[in-house]
Amino acid sequence: MAQAGEFKRVLLKISGEALMGARDFGIDMDMVNRVAGEIARAQKRGHEIGLVIGGGNIFRGVAGAASGMERASADYMGMLATVMNALAMQNALMGQGVDARVMSAIPMPTVCESFARARAVRHLEKGKVVLFAAGTGSPYFTTDTGAALRAAEMNCDALMKGTSVDGVYSADPKTDPSAERFDEISYTEMLRRDLKVMDAAAIALARDNDIPLIVFSIREEGNLLDVLEGKGAFTRVTPGA
Ligand code: UDP
Repeated sequence: MAQAGEFKRVLLKISGEALMGARDFGIDMDMVNRVAGEIARAQKRGHEIGLVIGGGNIFRGVAGAASGMERASADYMGMLATVMNALAMQNALMGQGVDARVMSAIPMPTVCESFARARAVRHLEKGKVVLFAAGTGSPYFTTDTGAALRAAEMNCDALMKGTSVDGVYSADPKTDPSAERFDEISYTEMLRRDLKVMDAAAIALARDNDIPLIVFSIREEGNLLDVLEGKGAFTRVTPGA
């Protein structure tokens, strides 16, 4: 088996929006299949992969709350949306010959496995891709925090955030042409500069548990494999000061 290098076991976080492809809502199966193909190749190179997919392509709690719903109920709807995305990705992975298990933080045994740490670790050790669905299982959190939590619990070598840009910038590169890209930055500096890469709860969890964060673009085909090997464009966010 090929060398998995520094990032043998990783927790990959993809936003729900990344699964929309060119659509403006829901799931684009072409996009899901493309990402699944990259994950399949990474798995075959010996990486152990945990996956957290957001739910923003279907429902976000804050949007529900803004239109008058109780925030906690709206957040549960958001968490259910992440289960839909996880099931779509599991299907795509299985279709490409990769054994994948969905483990939900909210038990729903007729749909998927419930999250149990020891069982999840066992799945990863056996080379199965584990999709951690329903975030943390609690309202008022995000899937970024769910991803940081699972990365810590699974002793991952890195938390990898696949976004629409190729790293962390000093400002939004889509609106500010003078925005500078960092090759490396610490969590503390990112918080000090108020760079909106992950929410503060997710950052605190990753930083306090010494987990580096790799921010890269999931839009470019083949990028995931390059980044796992330390190649290509990405920003490494370090736990140190
Ligand atoms: N959510 C939650 N608790 C969690 C994770 C998610 O309540 O631990 C809800 C929340 O309403 C959130 C929605 O699920 O808006 C979808 O997750 P997120 O916004 O993180 O998805 P992404 O932006 O990554 O697509």
